[in-house]
Amino acid sequence: YAAKSARSTVVIFDEASLALRLEANQLSAALVVAADRNEFIVHYQPKVSLLTGEHLGFEALVRWRHPELGILAPGRFLPLMEGSHLIRGMTRAVVAIVSHDLRAWKDAGLIPGPIAINLPEALLVGEEGYEMLAGAIRENGLDWRDFAVEVTEDVFINRSADQILGTVTRFREHGLSISLDDFGTGFASLVHLRDFPFDELKIDRSFVANIGTDIRSEQIIRAMVDLSRNLGKRCVAEGIETDIQRRFLLSAGCEIGQGYLFAKPQPAARAGAHLPKRFTGSKKSVAARSDIG
Ligand code: C2E
Ligand code: MG
Ligand code: MG
Ligand code: MG
Repeated sequence: YAAKSARSTVVIFDEASLALRLEANQLSAALVVAADRNEFIVHYQPKVSLLTGEHLGFEALVRWRHPELGILAPGRFLPLMEGSHLIRGMTRAVVAIVSHDLRAWKDAGLIPGPIAINLPEALLVGEEGYEMLAGAIRENGLDWRDFAVEVTEDVFINRSADQILGTVTRFREHGLSISLDDFGTGFASLVHLRDFPFDELKIDRSFVANIGTDIRSEQIIRAMVDLSRNLGKRCVAEGIETDIQRRFLLSAGCEIGQGYLFAKPQPAARAGAHLPKRFTGSKKSVAARSDIG
């Protein structure tokens, strides 16, 4: 094993890193068939009003139900998919699951709000990502506005804003909202903020985690909120775990958030349990109004 990899990379003969590499190799092999075996699942985390707690939508977060290791978080396997076509199959699986859950929630009269899909770079360049969502919407009788798209700053490592402009512009023409995810941790420069059309800026949780302990994080959050407001974008904070963080964000002018304080990412059955209903009141009024809804 060591001899084989010595050709291309520096090999560190340290047992811990060797174990990690072996694990990565095994996971990579299993990943090749994960989509075909329906091993990808989706958990949903709500986006809520920081003022009222009102449900505003969900973010879909992929997990891999590994046959032996159990449910794995994306941090364990997404890095292994970089630069490979496997991420396309995984995203296709995520879109299919989300479409199915959206259909079921809507049929039950529930209002899930837009469900945000984290779209990888590979699906923002070219037609495939657009066709993937368009097909799912068509096949399940859904609306474009049932979805939203989150794009991390990392897409700008290899791409200029105009290389993904086509796909993003088409999404937005249908009224679908685009978020710039993990803002402040990656490669989005102010030029991207200027040239890349998006609707929502997501403050990374590394800033939120330091509220109350690091004054600089707090000042940077204030600046990001002001920036998003001046650009006419919504601002969403991720990783809110305490009421102190929630109140700070509100005082800074950020009114939407996600985090364990409100709900952890959960399977559809549990995530849907508290969704608002389309019509309240008696069965009769539901029946009377359903034909116009
Ligand atoms: P992200 O899009 O920034 O998602 C937010 C991450 O923060 C999620 O981690 C979520 O579980 C976690 N989180 C939410 N609230 C809290 C909190 O209060 N405290 C803490 N400590 N963590 C919180 P997760 O699910 O492990 O996902 C990690 C990243 O993997 C995501 O970051 C996203 O970039 C990527 N990812 C997830 N699902 C998909 C997917 O379907 N496709 C693609 N391409 N990437 C995905
Ligand atoms: Mg995200
Ligand atoms: Mg994020
Ligand atoms: Mg993040």
